[in-house]
Amino acid sequence: MNNNQISLAKETKKLLKKYDLILNHNLGQNFLIDDAKRNQIIDFGNINSNDTILEIGPGIGTLTLKMAKKAKKVICIEKDKKVLNILNKRIEDNSIDNIEIINDDALKVDFPRFDKVISNLPYQISSPITFKLLNYPFKFGVLMYQKEFAYRMLSNVGERNYSRLSAMLHFKVDIELLTKVPAECFMPKPKIDSAVVKLTPNNKIKDKELFKNYEKVCKALFQHKNKKAENSIINSRHELGYTDKKELKTDIKNLNSENLDKLLEKRVISLSPEEILEITKLLSDIL
Ligand code: SAH
Repeated sequence: MNNNQISLAKETKKLLKKYDLILNHNLGQNFLIDDAKRNQIIDFGNINSNDTILEIGPGIGTLTLKMAKKAKKVICIEKDKKVLNILNKRIEDNSIDNIEIINDDALKVDFPRFDKVISNLPYQISSPITFKLLNYPFKFGVLMYQKEFAYRMLSNVGERNYSRLSAMLHFKVDIELLTKVPAECFMPKPKIDSAVVKLTPNNKIKDKELFKNYEKVCKALFQHKNKKAENSIINSRHELGYTDKKELKTDIKNLNSENLDKLLEKRVISLSPEEILEITKLLSDIL
């Protein structure tokens, strides 16, 4: 443990004791206690005085208070009232006037306009919150996830962690691993390690209908990722609105596309996002 870690750890412990806060595991309450990592995350955000920063799950404000010094405004969405009481008190004690708090479930509220999203996320909502964020326009995000989740986000076809998540994100964002964060950097210490990634929206598929269909096809395919694509799609036919096996088989046959047949011969795990998109386009008449 270095000195930085001790100081932020001590500060956090003191605050929790002072306000008698018992952390709620179900809300993914693991607070960052490593000052060097905190500074690194904020530096990655390259925050300037024009930036409106969105933060999901600020906790007691470990990132929030420091970001507010650099940003035009920080808007945070926190579900837990007890945690917010502490954050509000700290904001008051420090006479900070550019932090806006939304006390709600980040999955349920509409997001306000923001330039960058910087958060140590509650990990139990990693997937839905990421896809929700991607429906909003923003410059980039600096987000901390469970390490394994981050690896799945980052993987390319042919790599060990290639998954539905990797394929789904491909046409939405460019993803870069910024730094790994070991479990010791949090209080209480979780069982898992974390990683910080940068997400830069790339908007490679602008057609909303096409992306919806791409999502459907990804969902159907990756339910059986070691099977041949055709078998996988037929087994997950409900994702494409089919109940009857034969009907889907016949419909695929009737599309009469050599290219489609060739792609559907491949194993799901070896299909690149581009190939899945091609399959989606070729299937579009029956989706
Ligand atoms: N960013 C802080 C806290 C991370 S812990 C830090 O780095 O120390 C995750 C935080 O997200 C907790 O404060 C938890 O109460 C909050 N949270 C959990 N689920 C949430 C949800 N659905 N919407 C908003 N906040 C949530």
